Amino acid sequence: MLEQLDKQYVIQTYARNYVNFKKGINATLFDENEKDYIDFTSGIGVVSVGHGNKRVADVICQQANNIMHISNLYGIEPQAKLGEKIAKLTGMDVATFFSNSGAEANEGAIKLARKYGETKFENKRYKVITLENSFHGRTITTVKATGQSSMHSPNFAPYPEGFSYNNSIDDIYNSIDNETVAVMIELVQGEGGVQPFDKKQIQELAKFLKENDILMIIDEVQSGAFRTGEFLATQVYEIEPDIITMAKGLGGGVAIGAVITKHKDLFTYGDHGSTFGGNYLCTAAALEVLDILDEYKNNGALDETIIFFSNELKKVYEANKDIFTDSVGLGLMRGLRVKDADTLSNIIKESFNEGLLVLKAGRNTLRMLPPLTISKDEITQGFKRLQNALNKIKN
Ligand SMILES: *Cc1c(COP(=O)(O)O)cnc(C)c1O
Repeated sequence: MLEQLDKQYVIQTYARNYVNFKKGINATLFDENEKDYIDFTSGIGVVSVGHGNKRVADVICQQANNIMHISNLYGIEPQAKLGEKIAKLTGMDVATFFSNSGAEANEGAIKLARKYGETKFENKRYKVITLENSFHGRTITTVKATGQSSMHSPNFAPYPEGFSYNNSIDDIYNSIDNETVAVMIELVQGEGGVQPFDKKQIQELAKFLKENDILMIIDEVQSGAFRTGEFLATQVYEIEPDIITMAKGLGGGVAIGAVITKHKDLFTYGDHGSTFGGNYLCTAAALEVLDILDEYKNNGALDETIIFFSNELKKVYEANKDIFTDSVGLGLMRGLRVKDADTLSNIIKESFNEGLLVLKAGRNTLRMLPPLTISKDEITQGFKRLQNALNKIKN
């Protein structure tokens, strides 16, 4: 029924699994037959405070019963408070522009960088360097910023100019020229294989870019909102980028994106905008999400969850070295590298049958992005189901 309806009326850009989820409680989902699934995906890193979170739901209900939207032509109290909360959590002197998605946040970041390049130098600087294996979004510009040639289909050409890719941090130095305005990277490449970069290497790059007045844009769409154990991966790496983008986990399931920058006065009236961006509903929700996660971090629960998850992950990794070749990632953004692509697909399929949702990522990575509020029982149960799936594959 769902499958038929979807295939007839929804444009088919995803190879979907037609399980019909009806209910969610924290990291557990139930389908229409009451079968339960442990969710190690949180909707690709979105449902950071779990499914059916009562605090967020109550805030949303209250806000929806009052004002949902009034446009950005008026001051919006929860938006301003969310901007303040983000600045406090970063510990930096920053201001935020609110968008509706990660791709849009990255678009905003690129626009901001381009304005910097146009207005701050004698010659025009407009080139943005990104990395191979990166992922920055699906709009025509962010798809071009994404350093995977498979994403640059001629179907959608021509693409905007000014993007080039390097396959390592070290290579970036050689491709900088006097038209380079920014370097845009993820600190932990999510779609690219849950690959964190070396801290020293990133700090050296940050220093070099600052000295040469080239902007550093950190795409934290996936790694932000406490996913790596700190509010931002930027804080794990102890750098101060010029621009940081966020989205996924920030709204706990409500669509929101953020362009966070030290260059607070670079955009002026009319430079950028969004009809929906930063509306009452999404900013009220995100404010509650950050309050919850901030408390969760401060009372030690997040660190405890990360340690517990890491230990269980390690056990499964150690016990299945015939299948897994490496364990990667940070905090609750984790991956196990699988020996080949077919085995990875089988693991995801068998895990699903066992009642566990997991993701895949580049470099044959089995990716896990559980809700940050996942319980110990759910973690234990999830890894048990993963082991069951692995046993089936081995037999
Ligand atoms: C998901 C993702 C995006 C795109 O976000 P959307 O909300 O899907 O537009 C951009 N960058 C990174 C690192 C992501 O993980």
